[in-house]
Amino acid sequence: MTINSLRSLSQQVLTVFVLLFCGLVATKTYAESLTALHVNGLEDGSRLGQYFHVWHDESGSADLADAIAAFRLHKFSPLKSKGSTGLQAGAFWSVFYLHNDSDKPITLNLEYVDHQLIYLSAYQRNTSAPSFLEIADLALSNPFSERLVSHQRFVVPVELGAGETYQFYFRFGSDEKGFVFPDLRLWQPDKMHYVQSIELGSIAFLVGGLALMAIISLVTGVATNDKTYYAYFVYAGTKLATWPTILGFSHMFFVREDFHWSYMSLTGAMSIMTGVIFARIFLQTKVNTPRLDYVLKFMILNAGLLALAALTRETVFSVVLITIALLLYPVLAIASLIRWYQGSKESAVYTLGWTVLIIGLFSQALRDLGLVEHTFVTYYWPVVASYSEMMVIMVAMGIHLFRLRRLKEQAELRYRSQLERAKQELEILVSERTHALEVAKSEAEKEARTDPLTGINNRRSFMAKSEAMFDSCRNRSHPMSMLMFDIDHFKKINDNHGHAVGDQALKLFATTIESEIRDGDVLGRLGGEEFGLALYSDKDTAIHTAERLRSAVERIYLNTGVVQVRFTTSIGVALMEAEESIEQLMSHADQALYKAKESGRNKAVVSAA
Ligand code: GH3
Ligand code: MG
Ligand code: MG
Repeated sequence: MTINSLRSLSQQVLTVFVLLFCGLVATKTYAESLTALHVNGLEDGSRLGQYFHVWHDESGSADLADAIAAFRLHKFSPLKSKGSTGLQAGAFWSVFYLHNDSDKPITLNLEYVDHQLIYLSAYQRNTSAPSFLEIADLALSNPFSERLVSHQRFVVPVELGAGETYQFYFRFGSDEKGFVFPDLRLWQPDKMHYVQSIELGSIAFLVGGLALMAIISLVTGVATNDKTYYAYFVYAGTKLATWPTILGFSHMFFVREDFHWSYMSLTGAMSIMTGVIFARIFLQTKVNTPRLDYVLKFMILNAGLLALAALTRETVFSVVLITIALLLYPVLAIASLIRWYQGSKESAVYTLGWTVLIIGLFSQALRDLGLVEHTFVTYYWPVVASYSEMMVIMVAMGIHLFRLRRLKEQAELRYRSQLERAKQELEILVSERTHALEVAKSEAEKEARTDPLTGINNRRSFMAKSEAMFDSCRNRSHPMSMLMFDIDHFKKINDNHGHAVGDQALKLFATTIESEIRDGDVLGRLGGEEFGLALYSDKDTAIHTAERLRSAVERIYLNTGVVQVRFTTSIGVALMEAEESIEQLMSHADQALYKAKESGRNKAVVSAA
């Protein structure tokens, strides 16, 4: 594989396109004979221009004597293209004359305008002298320290005596096939080094930018755990290795001893591979454009094989693989166009990035074909295009990240409002349950206080309430009375009409008494057909009330449907005086009740205690 395979094949592949775009390729023939170019030592990068002729040595094995013979046979002629010889096997020889116009000896640097030349030899002769001197024998594989001038491109320094004219032969060689740009730049050494430092600074800026993008991407990858950023990091990393290698800086600074041209092909292949891997992840082609994804997978495999071929220096294999790689390049732009059409905004930006890169490669092909001048602009266009592509993709990834963040925020908002709703529902549920529990509790409490048959206080509740009344009346010296009821001959009701009628009689008794008393009075069933009533009242009122209640009971008519049942009650009345407890007061009322029974029933008797 030749040094120029990567570029030379891009020429082959793009020739068709180029011819389509450019139409007629104008060719000029030079009638003028070769004359000396007058120099004065102040040259700042001016070219030989038309002051040189070239001869193509197809065998590649011609030596200086052969070149001189070819010159005598008029085989040298002006270069017909705009700078490049195009892809050719063998070697090219150039011949030219320089005349020192100044009145003192000068030194000039003659710079080869392109990178990637494998061999450069140069010979010089004062036109007044018969023989040539070899002034340069450069090879890309030589250690960088053997360069005559420390420069990323081949530079040959020449010495020209005052007023003297010199003839030069330059041999541009490649291993097999390659591009050659036989024109040379002429420099006053200081001016060349000044421009070189600007070039170095600019490349350092681009490399630094790439490194920065790689680092930012790595950090973003770690922060977001999004593998797109890792893929971009690797892609930027390989570009970081590729461009300084292709432009000669890796040889100049890092691999000074054992540089081999295959490193250029290897890093180029890695750039293609990582670029396609990144595109697959970024555009998610596996899901969104499955058929194109097969092509991308094939491109990755192809780039891998290309890297292998570069390492093993398999020429034919490499040529086939790089041709395939370049032919498939537009697939990436097509994939991103489809993704754009599918609605991915980032892909629009990505399409722009790829278009910039493809234009860069296209311009390089035009230059290598000799259809476009080889200038600093066309020389660096592919590099800047590649850098712009990375910048543009960085922007696309920024948009990608921004969109992800917005989606996350929306999801969070949705989640929070769901949480809020769930909380409200829970609160409602809890308050409903609490209310139900409170109702159940108060019902249970009421049940515990209530006599189930009549619905009035049961014995326990009656005792508690009347005791509270007792204490309160005692403290406030308020009168209190206790009435105790026992229905007369109740057993007979049960016996004569049945237990159910007895129950009805008990209920009717309770409602009758309840309807006759005031709110603060406490009525309770003490057991069986015995009831108690605690009243806030003095003796007279109590006696009066007892009489009124007795009489009310007497008037009860219980309609069984068959007969009308009537009954009476005996009442014991006790007034709070010296009693020390409610039990004592009840006991006095009970004694009075006993007397009421004894004295004939249906009576209210006041306790004598
Ligand atoms: P006295 O005039 O002496 O009070 O006669 P009495 O029949 O009322 O006396 P006694 O205390 O011997 O009878 C009370 C009866 O009340 C006995 C019992 O069968 C009845 N009894 C007690 N609790 C209930 C009840 O909840 N329902 C019904 N139907 N009867 C009850
Ligand atoms: Mg009784
Ligand atoms: Mg009774």
